[in-house]
Amino acid sequence: MDNRHIDTICAQGCYKPKSGEPRVVPIAQSTTYLYETSEAMGDLFDLKADGFFYTRLGNPTTDVVEKKIAAMEGGVGAMMTSAGMSATLLAVLNIAGAGDHIVASSALYGGTFNLFENTLPELGITTTFVSPKASDEELEAAFKPNTKLVFGESISNPSLAVLDIEKFAKHAHAHHVPLIVDNTFPTPIFCRPFEWGADIVVHSTSKYLDGHAVALGGIIVDSGNFDWTSGDYKGLTEPDESYHGLTYTEAFGNAAYITKARTHLMRDLGATPSPFNAFLLDLGSNTLHLRMPRHADNAKRLAEALEKDPRIAYVTCPSLPSSPDYELTQKYMPNGTCGVISFGIKGGRDNAQAFQGFLKLAGIETHVADLRTCVLHPASTTHRQMTDAQLEAAGVRPDMVRFSCGIENFEDILADVMQALDQLKF
Ligand SMILES: *Cc1c(COP(=O)(O)O)cnc(C)c1O
Repeated sequence: MDNRHIDTICAQGCYKPKSGEPRVVPIAQSTTYLYETSEAMGDLFDLKADGFFYTRLGNPTTDVVEKKIAAMEGGVGAMMTSAGMSATLLAVLNIAGAGDHIVASSALYGGTFNLFENTLPELGITTTFVSPKASDEELEAAFKPNTKLVFGESISNPSLAVLDIEKFAKHAHAHHVPLIVDNTFPTPIFCRPFEWGADIVVHSTSKYLDGHAVALGGIIVDSGNFDWTSGDYKGLTEPDESYHGLTYTEAFGNAAYITKARTHLMRDLGATPSPFNAFLLDLGSNTLHLRMPRHADNAKRLAEALEKDPRIAYVTCPSLPSSPDYELTQKYMPNGTCGVISFGIKGGRDNAQAFQGFLKLAGIETHVADLRTCVLHPASTTHRQMTDAQLEAAGVRPDMVRFSCGIENFEDILADVMQALDQLKF
């Protein structure tokens, strides 16, 4: 357990150069590693010794950032992936296969919803979606004998629903299955899901953790707390013939899950990040603790201003006392949520689309959680094929604008929004 404050971990990470070595994490842009004897290399392949032998399975630069984010979340180990989507995919495939079942919150990132709804069923893994506000009875009813995990987002993208982590963990554990939480939006600066019973955390590091919108990435963090021997996880508790009959829970104890993810899934599926992207992630995360409070503060102040504006139909921001999620926010992330808010503009789809076009400081982007303010009107962009009725059914209102506050000066962000609203006809 790393007892340093998270700010210090952000700035210095787990990289400790020796005398005369580079102060900054070096980029090990090498696919391969040299060994002097075949025995030394053989031990690596038998998982008897620690070390790098091929970058698909591990790399010194990537290793540094993995250890850093594991420390930030309070976990025992982590594995970086090429994108957030592959982190979620591998986190699931590590413990679920054909014939298995997932219970997932319905408030999910679109890509994750597609993965669970369309792609995983083709591999034989099905999902029952539950409302993030599901009652105990509704949650209980979603479990099946073949349920292998529960999944949710600490703050969902884009609907901004806050997950009741403790409640979802309680139900998962009653069924001897782990809770996996996507903690992309609040980041460990504002929310630490392991402290509330989550067992595995995943991130799209493409968002705040990198923060500069320069590198796609994902990461899986293992809390080390889940007892894999109490459930039906044969891949972890029975011998792996591809490693001479090694059993993960026996050989790696509370790091069994994250070790298997690497030695088994990354070996066979290869969703590996480039060492350069790992370097960029480390660099970006050096200032995460400074950026997140500014993102959150800008978002909350903008939400407060819009809530009072007669031209605005509604504002969604879990930090506002008027939010239905305010109590959960106070419990799980009392110091802030994230920089993303959404709001509806009176006058419907046309005004929302026009508003987006009038913005000058905020960029129109299919992205969020960038240090530069960006905006998206889903009905005229990502969801433009849908009719108004289909949009309503998907929970995306035609008048809704998703607004990701950057770390610019608040008065400038507010002025940009106000001048765009001033140009609309009501
Ligand atoms: C963006 C995002 C993802 C997907 O991550 P990529 O890095 O784009 O693959 C997953 N979950 C959440 C909450 C996201 O915002």
